[in-house]
Amino acid sequence: MPAGTLETVKERTDVVDLIGAKVQLRQTGRSFKGLCPFHTEKTPSFVVYPESQSYHCFGCGKTGDIFTYIMDTENLDFRDALKLLADRAGVQLESQMQQRRDPERDREREGLVDLNERAAAFFSNVLWTSPSASEARAVLERRGVDRRTAERFGIGYAPDSFDALKGHFLSRDVTEAELVAAGLLTRREEDGRTWDRFRNRITFPIRNREGKAVGFGARAMGDANPKYLNTAETPIFNKRSLLYALDKAYDAVRRLRSIVIVEGYMDAFAAHQFGFENVVASMGTALTPTQVSSIRRYVDRVYLALDSDAAGQLATLRGIDSMRESFADDERVEVLPGNLVRFERTLGAEIRVVLLPHGKDPDDYIRADPANWPAALDSSIPLVEYFLTHSLSGIDDSPTARARALQDDAVPILREIGDPVVLSHYIAMTARLLRFRDTEVHAAVLRGPSRRRENRSPASAAVSERPSAHDPERYLVTLLLRYPLAALDQIAGIDREDVLDTRHRLIIEGLASTSGEIEIALAGLDEEIAAYARSLLSESELRGTTFPLATSREIPVAIQRLAQTRYESRLRHVQSELQAAQQAGDVAAVTENIQRMNLLAERKQSFAPRESPYFRDIRSAVN
Ligand SMILES: [Zn+2]
Repeated sequence: MPAGTLETVKERTDVVDLIGAKVQLRQTGRSFKGLCPFHTEKTPSFVVYPESQSYHCFGCGKTGDIFTYIMDTENLDFRDALKLLADRAGVQLESQMQQRRDPERDREREGLVDLNERAAAFFSNVLWTSPSASEARAVLERRGVDRRTAERFGIGYAPDSFDALKGHFLSRDVTEAELVAAGLLTRREEDGRTWDRFRNRITFPIRNREGKAVGFGARAMGDANPKYLNTAETPIFNKRSLLYALDKAYDAVRRLRSIVIVEGYMDAFAAHQFGFENVVASMGTALTPTQVSSIRRYVDRVYLALDSDAAGQLATLRGIDSMRESFADDERVEVLPGNLVRFERTLGAEIRVVLLPHGKDPDDYIRADPANWPAALDSSIPLVEYFLTHSLSGIDDSPTARARALQDDAVPILREIGDPVVLSHYIAMTARLLRFRDTEVHAAVLRGPSRRRENRSPASAAVSERPSAHDPERYLVTLLLRYPLAALDQIAGIDREDVLDTRHRLIIEGLASTSGEIEIALAGLDEEIAAYARSLLSESELRGTTFPLATSREIPVAIQRLAQTRYESRLRHVQSELQAAQQAGDVAAVTENIQRMNLLAERKQSFAPRESPYFRDIRSAVN
């Protein structure tokens, strides 16, 4: 099982040591406590548990393990947090990963990158030196392309020839097969003939986050179709996981905590030329969870700046549509509009739509006056607002049409909004657009979509005991992985504070941002996490034969059980603190722990609304 590195890092890192390096911790019984690093406080409510290698703050509710701690305090994504902790623990992350990887596959990928880099150099050389590229140079000049920026981006020109690149490489000991594999030559099935894929086009090398050339986007010079041609899928070129110019934008994205996604390579290029460095271009698929997974940690805001000429108004919607489709590219299921809003929520960042004046794309718009750009971002509108105004305006005035629009278009979106304040804002907006009363919209949201839903009430029935369920968190995640479609409806009911293991959190986020397609969810995860998820799945398959009764219906029960487990252990902790405070006659600490009990009691309401025989009434326990 290839979960090695991560496990080794976990084993070699003591959570008390790690946190104790920054936070003064004092031992109390089997746990340690100190002032919370995540919120400001005068008396310690941050508790570190060496046994479970986790922490919990009774003040602000932050929980997690060593990885979450580093991700949150150092503002890093999982991969970088793993690197930092591996370094600290003296674990050779790179070499272990290399060993685990197929060295042959690595060589193949390196070879493909190398060919793409050499092709980029070839195209660039043609662009700036060849007489055949004079028209291309003129086009770039007319468009105001600055040579220095163009060279930095490696812009080039593919000559109007079927064998310019092919001839260049064949004379340098590269084989046709290698060029086909790199996506640089096209091969005809019938007779095996090959020719240059890119001809008479301006070429944009597409680089991964690390800045390695993995393929090309190429723009037609004239009216040739398609206007943009990309490298075909290769082992290193996957449109759905790439964003053009992310390597150049990466630092600015982290610094500004925002990213702007435009449609065209020229749009991204123009932005960078004028110093707007957090701009990237989508690869024709608008936005996928996989693309965003590498930056989600670093952004609070994602701007979608899409063309808005006559066709572009549609393109904006299409952009969003294809974004939704990309959740489910391979399974072709109908994607509900609410998924996008759900995606926004799991992304943990606000998605805003930038509407440019009629007929303008970002390239024109920035070049006309660079000061336009910040202004356009400032006047962007939130995704939900954009969605509601587009789908609800122009609805027939008939009561039936308005009721259907409410039920089919608005409710699925509104139901995905987590924050009650935000929700009431959009309920009012929907009511205004459809000429209903707020209360009517609210009632529709509470009723939910018209389609029959799976019975989602988390059965107040007794929680079944399974030998496989010793760790309720792991058990829950395994169930979610086994029933990803059923999981979609249930994930919102999981309190993230109850999930302590970073791996489990990332898997849950990954599942939440897809349409229930497990492979898509796994593809968006770091490889260690994906490997771990697969190991949970295969274990569960082994167990499935012994416990065939475990079905998706157990998901709500497992969520509830996890909530109970966390609740009980937190309650035990507070009770013992309270006891100690009473014995010491520490009035302030007594008051504080009683407050914590009340907070816990409130949270208990959310997963166990009714009085249950399994719980003592904690309010009476206090008195
Ligand atoms: Zn806190």
